[in-house]
This record gives sequence, structure tokens and C-alpha cells, in this order.
Amino acid sequence: MAQLSNDCFALGGGLLTVPAALAEIEARITPVVGTETVPLAAAAGRILARDVIATINLPPHANSAVDGYAVAHADLVPDRETVLPVTGRAAAGHPLGLPVQRGEAIRIFTGAPMPDGTDTVMMQEDCALEDQRVRLRPGIKKGANRRHAGEDIAKDETALSVGLRLRAPDLGLAAALGYREVCVFRRLRVALLSTGDEVRDPGAPLPPGAIYDANRVMLAALLTGLGCVVSDFGIRPDREAALADTLAAASADHDLIVTSGGVSTGEEDHVKSAIERLGTLHFWRLAIRPGRPVALGQVGGVPLIGLPGNPVAVIVTFVVLARPLVLQLAGAAPSPPRLFPVPAGFAYRKKLGRREYLRASLKREGDAVVAVKYPSDGAGILSSIVRSDGLVILEEAVSELAVGSMVDFLPFSEVIS
Ligand code: AMP
Ligand code: MG
Repeated sequence: MAQLSNDCFALGGGLLTVPAALAEIEARITPVVGTETVPLAAAAGRILARDVIATINLPPHANSAVDGYAVAHADLVPDRETVLPVTGRAAAGHPLGLPVQRGEAIRIFTGAPMPDGTDTVMMQEDCALEDQRVRLRPGIKKGANRRHAGEDIAKDETALSVGLRLRAPDLGLAAALGYREVCVFRRLRVALLSTGDEVRDPGAPLPPGAIYDANRVMLAALLTGLGCVVSDFGIRPDREAALADTLAAASADHDLIVTSGGVSTGEEDHVKSAIERLGTLHFWRLAIRPGRPVALGQVGGVPLIGLPGNPVAVIVTFVVLARPLVLQLAGAAPSPPRLFPVPAGFAYRKKLGRREYLRASLKREGDAVVAVKYPSDGAGILSSIVRSDGLVILEEAVSELAVGSMVDFLPFSEVIS
């Protein structure tokens, strides 16, 4: 009996697999097209809408990688010391300004342009200075410690491509190429609501049978982390008409609606019927654990993703489905999170045909790292996520896992900001 009531498949077939759901999302979600130009300082996390093409070489000029002495390699005696007069000085921002004659050395500092006529820099640690003459050790290779113009990015090269989510190093590269601002897709406007007669805002009194809303703040943070502007539609009661009113209002000026709760098959689950009443439902039951009920639909032409109510299922389904949806809608190029193969430090049995996401942490065992499953796996145990490093992914075809078999591990750091 317990087995039956816990059995997600007992309620009937028609469960969509995760890859099929992702394919649906990919096929149905049309990216926003609006763009804006923003200063680099405000561009972290934004998605590039126009390629950043180098209009200059980076570095712009050949320069020294060290503090030392610039020479023409041809002036060095191959197998013993060379002594050359030091006839000039080049520092960063202060080029020598004239060509170097054969047989001369130039005092040079990191970042200083290579004086014409020199091709090699000897580090000051390998030199001795005596009366304006420098004694250079033998054995240095031609071109040592010289950075070429354009060796990082050549002029006309595409440095950053459309669809890139800009991180700090990307901004640094754009700045190094002289860009003050970049063209990015506009931020998504996302309407967010929780559902449930039992759900209360933190800080409010908690009547018997009520719980505090954990999902809304999590989802707001996850969406904001993806660059969205979130409109808070609060907590809606378990009444189809009230839900439908809210969804209709939200669809007026948002790019996406995100809900949690109310998508199961219970009598109090009205999100699905509200979507059907107002628009189209593409799918709502997936072969996934935790999180079987996940609705994808459209209301007034606006995509809606209805996540489950259990907070753990919310995190998992957000990471697996809502995150790629949001990124695609926002104009990002596909970039599936990296999965890391690690040996399982536990045995496990699962149902064939569904994908499972187990909360796990990485533990060092000698030279190896193993994934250790969190002891409790209820979909309501939010602390299990808080205390885990990520998710072990068990695919549809897996039914049994033995200790030591390799599993895919998805670190939360890849997908949760
Ligand atoms: P539902 O999908 O609406 O049946 O909800 C499944 C479980 O998640 C129930 O135990 C709900 O009380 C719980 N739940 C729903 N929404 C929230 C929320 N916003 N925060 C915390 N728990 C929730
Ligand atoms: Mg509910």
C-alpha cells in the first residue's frame, strides 16, 4: 500500500522524460529580441547581444614581460657572457622613442614597449650592472620575455560572442580592447508567485497547519542570479479563479511567469487548470525525481513554468528545467552545466525510466573524490540541499547503482548563484 501511494507511476503513464522536456523547451521558447547598451561596470551577468570584435591588437604593442635589459639577440655571444653598454631606458607608458643601435642594451621594465632593434629581454636577476654596462649571462633564447602585439587577441578577431553571459574576465577583455560599453539583451521581466492556502510570508503569524513560504525567496534569488527582474505576485490561494486572475494579470507585462505548488493531481492543485483555462499547457508531468509535477505552458503568449511545491523539488526542477528555459529566453547561447564523473560512495536502487537527482557531497578518500549521498531524501527536506555540494544524476536507464560505480555529479556552484 505504502509502496503504491509513494509510486509516482501508479497514477498513470504519460510522463515526459527530462531530455524530452528540455527538447520541448528548446523548441518552444523564443528568445527576447530587445537590446540595450550598458556601461561595462553594469554588465556583469548580462547576456551579450552583439559580438565584441577587436578593433586593436591586444596587447597593442610588443612589450616586455619582465624588468630587465632589452637587447638584440644577435648581439649576444652564444657561450659566454656578453657585456653591452646601457644606452637608454623604457618604462611602461614611457617608450624609448628612438631605434636602438646594434651592440646596445636598454634598461626596460614590465609593460614597456620593446624598443625598435631589440627582440629579447634578459631578466634583471640574470644580469649584473657595472658602470652603465650590463653583463648578460649566455643561453637566453631569442624572443625571451617579449610579448608580441596581438598575441592575446588579434585585431579583427571576435573576442566575445553573442549569447555569452558576461563574467568578470569577459568584462576585463572588453575593457582591454577599449570598449566602454557593450550591447546586451534586455533583462527578462519575470512574474513570480507561490500558491497554497497553507503558505504564509515569513514574519507573519503562523496559524495551525500553516507553513512559511520558502520557495518564493529562493526562486527570486535564483532568477535574479540569472539577470532577471522579478515582480513579486505574492502567495495565491488554492482557487482556480484567483490563480487565473493573477496569471492573466502577470501575463500582461512580463516575459515569463514562474509559480510553485499546486501542479500535482490533488483537488487543491489548480495551476494546471488555470493554465488550461487561459492558454495552452505543453506538459505537466515528468519522469523526474524529485519533482514529478512541472508544468510548462503559455498564458496570453507568455511562457509559464509551474514548479512543484516541495522546496527540494523546486531547486532541482529549477536547475534542470527553469534555468535553461530562462537562459534561452534571455538570449544566452546554450551552455549546459558541466557534469563531473565521480565514483559513488553509496549503493542505490531506482525505478527504470525516470531520472533521479540525489543530493550528495564530495568527500576526499585518499587520492580519490567520492560522492556521498545525503542521508534523507524527502522532497521537503530543504536542509539536505543546504548541506550538500550538488546533485548526483542517475539517468533513466539506470536501475541499480553499486558502490564505486561512476556517476555524474553536478556541483551546485555550476548552477546556483
Ligand atoms: P503542492 O505541490 O502544492 O501540493 O505542495 C507540495 C508540498 O510543498 C506541500 O507540502 C506544500 O505545503 C509544500 N509547499 C508548497 N508551496 C510551498 C512554499 N512556497 N514553501 C514551502 N513549502 C511549500
Ligand atoms: Mg499546494
